[in-house]
Amino acid sequence: MNALSRNSADRVIVVGGGVAGLSTALRLAPRPVTLVSASPLGLGTATGWAQGGIASAMAQDDSAALHAADTEVAGAGLTEPEVALRIAAEGPRLIDWLVGLGAPFDRAAEGDLALGLEAAHSRRRIVRAGGDATGARVLETLVRAVLGSPWIEVVTADVTALLRDEHGGVAGIVAESDGARFRIPARAVVLATGGLGGLYASTTNPPGATGRGLALAARAGAVMRDMEFVQFHPTAIAAGRDPMPLATEALRGEGARLIDETGAAVMAGIAGGDLAPRDVVARGIFQALQRGRTVYLDARGALGAAMPTRFPTVAALCASAGLDPARQPIPVRPAAHYHMGGVKVDAHGASTVPGLYACGEVSSTGLHGANRLASNSLLEGLAYARFIAEGLDTPPPGRLVPEVASRRVGFDVAAIRSLMESHVGVVREAQGLAEAVAAMAPRAAFCDAALVASLVARAALAREESRGAHWRSDFPHQLAPHHTESTMARADVAAEPLVAE
Ligand SMILES: Cc1cc2nc3c(=O)[nH]c(=O)nc-3n(C[C@H](O)[C@H](O)[C@H](O)COP(=O)(O)OP(=O)(O)OC[C@H]3O[C@@H](n4cnc5c(N)ncnc54)[C@H](O)[C@@H]3O)c2cc1C
Repeated sequence: MNALSRNSADRVIVVGGGVAGLSTALRLAPRPVTLVSASPLGLGTATGWAQGGIASAMAQDDSAALHAADTEVAGAGLTEPEVALRIAAEGPRLIDWLVGLGAPFDRAAEGDLALGLEAAHSRRRIVRAGGDATGARVLETLVRAVLGSPWIEVVTADVTALLRDEHGGVAGIVAESDGARFRIPARAVVLATGGLGGLYASTTNPPGATGRGLALAARAGAVMRDMEFVQFHPTAIAAGRDPMPLATEALRGEGARLIDETGAAVMAGIAGGDLAPRDVVARGIFQALQRGRTVYLDARGALGAAMPTRFPTVAALCASAGLDPARQPIPVRPAAHYHMGGVKVDAHGASTVPGLYACGEVSSTGLHGANRLASNSLLEGLAYARFIAEGLDTPPPGRLVPEVASRRVGFDVAAIRSLMESHVGVVREAQGLAEAVAAMAPRAAFCDAALVASLVARAALAREESRGAHWRSDFPHQLAPHHTESTMARADVAAEPLVAE
């Protein structure tokens, strides 16, 4: 093992090359930043797959207060109002920042930003680029800026452990690349490692999204909050692909309808209908599937021949699956899509462990509560990148102590994915959850995927109510709003000997 030779006194390590990691690295300038990403920049992120856009209250009839209010309704009692308002108020400035970096957002004929409508938003406020290619365009913009920055060095490597100092703080990382293992000491580490959808058999997330940053933080002793809240996207395209391509919710915003094989409306009689919050639509579809129906998203009438120009990404995904959405309804079913819970952070993105920060989907900021409002996650990552850079103030680390290892021995993700799908999915109940916990517990000490899956299953078992994306068939009612929190017992944390440089 060797260490990069640069002075670590002021260096910040950012782990992750999605919207959260790239924008944190840019915002930290002129601090020296080492950006470590498991995949080469531009690849392997959920960010690059975002279709809907970025929510931002920019219209004349809109305001940060209205955006925050919609966010709170979706969050089902667990969104922190001041966090929602703070992030909503940041929206227009963040869009300006991206425009300044060259983001090619779609514009109306008069030159103003073209604003789209999505489910559960009371106003048109979805900023888009390339129709439904927002994530790809934003990612390209941020990658270009990072590669042009003299303050940021980019390392392609898998972060497998966090370095700790004698005071219990985080003091750098251990990473692996091409079989080589190396340490990079640092003043602070920002985890921007994305979500955990890849722990489910049906998911829209990229294959690497198995919550590895969550495991790093948990093994470092950070408080994890509301891990049970996993959002299932209602309309993943059921055409045999893994991960499942997404049919963006914006399609329903533009008039596409959910029907079954008889042509009957799937959401008939359910409040909000096709534009109800995500969890409601996901359960509506799930229950129709349980009754033996096949569910389709029908864009023929509302969009028809305009699909390839209005929604080129979805049209291309359908074409690659042999479907023509202008003539055929698109077969859909719910899939794990977004993780609301994560590393509990404060207003500056700091976790409960000194020197450890979290940004983007890996974090739990208080914005999403029990259910994320569509297109709020890119916004949250952009906002907290700034909050972290402004507030990052951590004393220099002390003497290093043995590493807290991230364990991947026996990394049996296929078995975990099927267990999570059947027992910790759209509809949950005690027996299935207890089975999942029991199956995962013996593996959690040595397998990161099992550790993260067990944190989700344990929290889901503990929450004996139905709220937002967490639906318990045995506890359909709501208790008083409360969070679940967990910290790993020291006994579960295996330390590896610190290898001399
Ligand atoms: C199909 C799809 C569509 C979506 N559409 C929208 C939308 O329209 N609007 C919206 O707001 N949100 C949308 N979302 C959600 C949004 O894209 C994500 O929440 C957001 O992009 C997460 O950004 P991130 O930077 O936190 O993580 P990611 O973009 O997933 O990036 C994670 C990074 O961490 C790296 N990484 C992970 N573990 C390690 C490790 N151990 N070592 C080194 N590197 C590591 C990965 O390689 C990757 O570079 C969508 C998500 C999906 C999957």
